[in-house]
Amino acid sequence: ATPTALLVGTGRGAQLGVLIKGPQILESTRRVDTIVLDKTGTVTTGRMKLVQVVPASGEDTAALLRLAGALEDASEHPIAAAVAAAARDQLPPGAALPTVSSFGNSQGQGVFGVVDGRAVAAGRGRWLAEQWSAPLPPELLEAVTAAEAQGRTAVAVAVDGAARGVLVVSDTVKATSPAAVAALRRLGLSPVLLTGDNPRAARSVAAQVGIETVIADVSPAGKLAAVADLQRQGHVVAMVGDGVNDAAALAQADLGIAMGTGTDVAIQASDLTLVRGDLYAAVDAIRLSRRTLATIK
Ligand code: ADP
Ligand code: MG
Repeated sequence: ATPTALLVGTGRGAQLGVLIKGPQILESTRRVDTIVLDKTGTVTTGRMKLVQVVPASGEDTAALLRLAGALEDASEHPIAAAVAAAARDQLPPGAALPTVSSFGNSQGQGVFGVVDGRAVAAGRGRWLAEQWSAPLPPELLEAVTAAEAQGRTAVAVAVDGAARGVLVVSDTVKATSPAAVAALRRLGLSPVLLTGDNPRAARSVAAQVGIETVIADVSPAGKLAAVADLQRQGHVVAMVGDGVNDAAALAQADLGIAMGTGTDVAIQASDLTLVRGDLYAAVDAIRLSRRTLATIK
């Protein structure tokens, strides 16, 4: 009887838009008491928009956006898509973004490369200072603080080893996220918001969806460590994520849940995939597994 009940569970899962890697997965959902949620692309749409460009004194706004946009065009990060789209939008008709002759990506930090023969890096301010010896001058630091105070994310841009401006991007919470978080609580799960983004943007999103526990400013390795810490405290942890930066944490979690709209690496690292890319599907998945287990017993 057991295998049949499990198969019914997985079949119904497919109907609900939940892909389950194997029937044995359902077992691990039973004791889950904590659910860790990635912010960008999981709780939020991840469809970011560029809302402001702050050039350093003497820098040209259009030129800065063109260099950063060309570089970000090669990255699959949601921030990158916003910057590249905005850069393309401001081009004259028929013009293309400048050529990128070398490209590198530092996970959870930013991107770097050579654009039009110039060394360009775009990402976290601290990373520019530490990795590229391009600390932000006071007026750019102020722009970063102001953006983050509004729950936004600031991308600092360095050209030829000096900070030349800040690009501000803004994201929105998915319409179903607040209801999904409330339903997860009703299932007895404590939600935790986990992000590589700045604490102010994280707090703003957490407040919008009703989450109190926030872990921000963490690297991909830090995401894994955060999940492992919760497990050491005796929690059984589910994690929902979508990015390359979530893969290690998803694999570490007792139940890894990937957004179907996310990256292949995240999907491969997970036990379940939510086809719709909607957090509410995680609620359906946990309900379904519990019901299926009840049938077996
Ligand atoms: P999240 O945990 O919210 O999905 P990430 O770990 O992917 O965020 O990124 C953490 C931070 O690193 C971002 O908020 C951003 O500041 C910076 N970052 C990462 N990738 C890029 C990129 N391609 N361009 C600019 N900044 C980036
Ligand atoms: Mg993400």
